Amino acid sequence: MIIGKRKPLAEIARMVEPFRKICILGCGTCAAVCLSGGEREAVETASALSILLQKKGKEVEITARTLLRQCEYEFIDEFAGTMPDCDVFLSLACGVGVQALTARLPQKIFLPGLNTTFMGYPLEQGVWTENCLGCGNCILDLTMGICPIARCAKSMLNGPCGGSQNGKCEINKDMDCAWHLIYERLANMGALDRMKAIQPPMDWSASHHGGPRTMIREDMRIGTGEQA
Ligand code: SF4
Ligand code: SF4
Repeated sequence: MIIGKRKPLAEIARMVEPFRKICILGCGTCAAVCLSGGEREAVETASALSILLQKKGKEVEITARTLLRQCEYEFIDEFAGTMPDCDVFLSLACGVGVQALTARLPQKIFLPGLNTTFMGYPLEQGVWTENCLGCGNCILDLTMGICPIARCAKSMLNGPCGGSQNGKCEINKDMDCAWHLIYERLANMGALDRMKAIQPPMDWSASHHGGPRTMIREDMRIGTGEQA
């Protein structure tokens, strides 16, 4: 189960700016239950994004689809057979969902539409891997769908640390170096120049480092309803 909140439309508009054919991907399980990224939210986001981008004079084709679960390969494979021909997919699942899609369909680009707050996905019966620490400010768009915060032992925003050997982390030789994975992913996607960008220090106040968290959705409280 995950809890998250959809990113502000302006941020989503910035992420999808280079693309024309966009698919908003809802997730029919956790994200639907927490009213952040289910079928209804995918349709609403597609509509709102379409209006916003048209106002900016951008010609786009935006569709909305929903998978029952974006965090399990079984459902991703089902989707892969019928997926629309789009330049980019904006996932309304948690960071785990974005990364599962990226791992299973590496030729496609998946952007994070939610700021995930907290969650792993099962690799096989009884084995889960932690891919998202619910930092509250998702940057998977910068790392092409591989999280350096959860998957790098030092949570480095600017990696690698220099200690990895043969693609494995210096902290645990059984663990892939997240930054090695990010480097390979960027190289495969022709986006290696992103490795040169220096990421500024992160504001951790939205993560668990800021203390115990409560998520308040003002738009769901009685008497409100405005979305950012
Ligand atoms: S950057 Fe990583 S830890 Fe933060 S929300 Fe995205 S996947 Fe989760
Ligand atoms: S070896 Fe890779 S995963 Fe391990 S701490 Fe260094 S950069 Fe992070």
